[in-house]
Amino acid sequence: MISVKCPHCRVGLKVDEGKLPPNITSFKCPKCKQPINISVLSSKGGDVFSATDDVTQLILKSHEKAGTITIMADENTRQQIFPLPEGINIIGRKSSQSSQATIHIETADRTMSREHIRIEVRKDSKGFKHFLSDNNSKNHTLYNSSYLEKGEIVILNNNDEIIIGNTTLRFNE
Ligand SMILES: [Zn+2]
Repeated sequence: MISVKCPHCRVGLKVDEGKLPPNITSFKCPKCKQPINISVLSSKGGDVFSATDDVTQLILKSHEKAGTITIMADENTRQQIFPLPEGINIIGRKSSQSSQATIHIETADRTMSREHIRIEVRKDSKGFKHFLSDNNSKNHTLYNSSYLEKGEIVILNNNDEIIIGNTTLRFNE
């Protein structure tokens, strides 16, 4: 639940973010019947809201949505952002050859394997968890500046850095 203050009548409301329809932009205040504009964001942090006269922003608690992987731009790669669906995600360099990858990064970085890392997204009663492992890649995987051992699995946290080949990825909740 998120606390929201109606910008019109200032009544405090509790909103169940799990029940909000996707792409909702406003709802009616149950007290004064005025529309409350909202934008739903994903962010780390607790119950947070900010209200101006015409915009109320709901900021979701961490882990209530599956995370994203941002591919940082460099000379080989343009910035790309991929949502991580629940289940097993195999991430690597996009190529014309077939692969088991489910997330294909467009890059000229040949040191990135086509099936470089694996991120398993699991949902439990507390929300989403993201498990990272190296997928037996040729050049291995750096996680927050340390190489992942064979078979090692780490749980990702917001803003973790993953380097595959010469390309940097950032995980966000
Ligand atoms: Zn109101």
